[in-house]
Amino acid sequence: MNYQVDQYGFYGTYGGSYVPEILYKTVEDLKEAYLPIIESESFKSEFHTLLRDYVGRPSPLYFAKRMSEKYGCRLYLKREDLNHTGAHKINNSLGQILIAKQMGKTRIIAETGAGQHGVATATACALMDMPCTVYMGATDVERQRPNVERMKMLGAEVCPVRSGNMTLKDATNEAIRDWCCHPSDTFYIIGSTVGPHPYPDMVARLQSVISEEILWQLEEKTGRNYPDYLIACVGGGSNAAGSIYHFLDNEHVKIVLAEAGGMGIDTAQTAASMEIGTTGILHGSRIKLMQTDDGQIVEPYSISAGLDYPGTGPIHCNLYESGRAQVLAVNDDEALAAAMELTRTEGIIPALESAHALGALPKLQFKKDDVVVLTVSGRGDKDMGTYLKYFKS
Ligand SMILES: *Cc1c(COP(=O)(O)O)cnc(C)c1O
Repeated sequence: MNYQVDQYGFYGTYGGSYVPEILYKTVEDLKEAYLPIIESESFKSEFHTLLRDYVGRPSPLYFAKRMSEKYGCRLYLKREDLNHTGAHKINNSLGQILIAKQMGKTRIIAETGAGQHGVATATACALMDMPCTVYMGATDVERQRPNVERMKMLGAEVCPVRSGNMTLKDATNEAIRDWCCHPSDTFYIIGSTVGPHPYPDMVARLQSVISEEILWQLEEKTGRNYPDYLIACVGGGSNAAGSIYHFLDNEHVKIVLAEAGGMGIDTAQTAASMEIGTTGILHGSRIKLMQTDDGQIVEPYSISAGLDYPGTGPIHCNLYESGRAQVLAVNDDEALAAAMELTRTEGIIPALESAHALGALPKLQFKKDDVVVLTVSGRGDKDMGTYLKYFKS
């Protein structure tokens, strides 16, 4: 099995590049440009220096002793929460802005859900002195206030989007609309492994620094350079794609992806698009998504703004369908309990998104010697309002 993208931009039957005519050339130009740029020595050197000195990489691989005892395995946490700006998103935003500059683009746009991608992109734009417009659903503007303030302080223009249920999907629609109006000077920094080819592959490559580090960090700590389990949460799929990138072809490594169950996959309040979705095209890519029989998008629901998206990127749809990855729906209450558990056993307050990955632990059966690597995609500062509401007693 080959789990990487093929020459047409597909992962099995998922992916591709379904874009409006007006964007065709822009996307085609990016398709021609991205690999030569990413593989050039000058890009590698500038990107690596930024990741080290600005982001603070490598992020630690932390042996969680008390959690390991609790779950009967050897649990290592990949600490993307310790990155500058608080999540894995900054790896991707910095990489894409370097590509944008190389391509001669002068203006950056982005969509954001929880606001982490918006903050990461606004940060990269401040650093590189580029104008930045961020589209964000009005619902998310309300529930992720601190990130909105951060983006504004960084100099970005934040545009609240009032269509649909005013969350990530709607913000993405609006960003694509902007892109259609300014295809030649504007670079759209997509925040996850979604969108038309080459975005999923480009984002996965930029995030693959996570698994590159896990390789040597595990070797150092356990004497073996691969784990028995890799666990990550999936919204669009970028932290998961980065965590598994170098282990995809190693069949000893079991991949577990946690998607947002919301109030439960048998209710209407869910975002578990791999489990309950059907194939369709959204935001330029053929993926599994939540839709009605006649192809209208069903509004997703999750307590976590970063997972509140009606589809999942093509990489993970293919891993799920081919059986390479096990997908578990983790509900709101399970994620909240897992966040509190990590906080009280290890002193780490995770992002609500990352708490979904932690919520997969009680659903798995480990052997005592199993090495389990779980990516903590971000920190919980932005979610304190939600945590306080649920744990007020
Ligand atoms: C955005 C975000 C996610 C979900 O996005 P992926 O592309 O699936 O990684 C997960 N965790 C955090 C902390 C995020 O900010």
